[in-house]
Amino acid sequence: MPESTPFSTLSHLECPKCGAQLDAAVVQGTCSCGSPLLARYDLAAARGMAVAGREATLWRYHEVLPVASPSAVISLGEGMTPLLPLPVHGKRLGVPDLWMKDEGLIPTGSFKARGAAVGVSRAAELGVRGIAMPTNGNAGAAWALYAARAGIRSLIAMPVDAPVITRAECVAAGAELYLVDGLISHAGALIREALKQRPDYQDVSTLKEPYRIEGKKTMGYEIVEQLGMRAPDVILYPTGGGVGLIGIHKALDEMREMGWLNPETRLVAVQAEGCRPIVDAWQAGATESVAPAAPTTVAFGINVPKPLGDFLILRALAETSGTAVAVTDEELLAAQQELARDEGTFVCPEGAACFAALVRLRESGWLNGGERVVVLNTGTGVKYPDTVRVSVPTVPADGALPGPR
Ligand SMILES: *Cc1c(COP(=O)(O)O)cnc(C)c1O
Ligand SMILES: [Zn+2]
Repeated sequence: MPESTPFSTLSHLECPKCGAQLDAAVVQGTCSCGSPLLARYDLAAARGMAVAGREATLWRYHEVLPVASPSAVISLGEGMTPLLPLPVHGKRLGVPDLWMKDEGLIPTGSFKARGAAVGVSRAAELGVRGIAMPTNGNAGAAWALYAARAGIRSLIAMPVDAPVITRAECVAAGAELYLVDGLISHAGALIREALKQRPDYQDVSTLKEPYRIEGKKTMGYEIVEQLGMRAPDVILYPTGGGVGLIGIHKALDEMREMGWLNPETRLVAVQAEGCRPIVDAWQAGATESVAPAAPTTVAFGINVPKPLGDFLILRALAETSGTAVAVTDEELLAAQQELARDEGTFVCPEGAACFAALVRLRESGWLNGGERVVVLNTGTGVKYPDTVRVSVPTVPADGALPGPR
């Protein structure tokens, strides 16, 4: 790589809806047309980046990340999570070449850490003094913790029934936290109102700032690097706001444009039956989604009724010959335990949904079993202590255990 290549090759922001180009050197939200903005890089300059010997974090791809100065990087060691082969479970499901990108092993316990690390770093670098967001839990926890590391403030609102541990993470991080007796959309309205009195805070709601996608796209770079610079045939992703799916699609496009490889990876959006706007839109051939009336699922991270980036998710599925699948809560909870028994890995309900979806895709013939398939497990099962119903015998202290079962 030429010595003159900057730490980041970020050039500008672009609107994927109306094509507008915006200055990336100042704080930006969404396009004036309402669309999320995408970061664009000088990929001709970045293409020679030699990542092999670099530290095992997502910052190894710094040329295609937005942070301009190495000293502005806020890190808790995020990224380069394991890509685990799952031979036993793969064989059971009829997909022997099955892999899992395990985001359970990342700071804050969910892959929201990736978006938070890059988003908070860039916001602080551009002079933002506080971040504000509605959340279903994990994103608020991650952004509050990274904000604390950056020395900036955070204002978070989440539904009362969001996972309790994420409350504790926000409070421990010193966030200004509010619980809302409603959905994430209600929390969003409260945050928008509160921001009017906080001019030095940035609205970092999902896809309302451009850099969370950049953090999450590194999953795409890592999967390809960990497979020896080869893209898998299929990636399954538990889709709420769709940031990770849009990000992985963007990463594959960037790697193609840099001439690294020519990926033919099909992307699959997995949702829960209780909240399946993307699946419905995909099946109807629509370009945007419609919010369900009463969204509900135990997989809280994918309980997003109307993603702002729905058209980008649907575009990613269409451009990669992918598909969208919904599974029931019963199916995903069963898959969670089956996987733990087969492979010793306790995934979050969102990740488990993808394993349940594999069964559907194999039954329908969409997968023939010969593909190399990567499932994204987006967080650790340990963050959701109530998803496994536990019924175990208690014995007296001086008692005896029954014979072997
Ligand atoms: C937020 C979240 C998701 C959904 O991520 P998007 O990129 O918004 O679609 C999936 N799983 C977990 C554990 C999450 O916290
Ligand atoms: Zn626009």
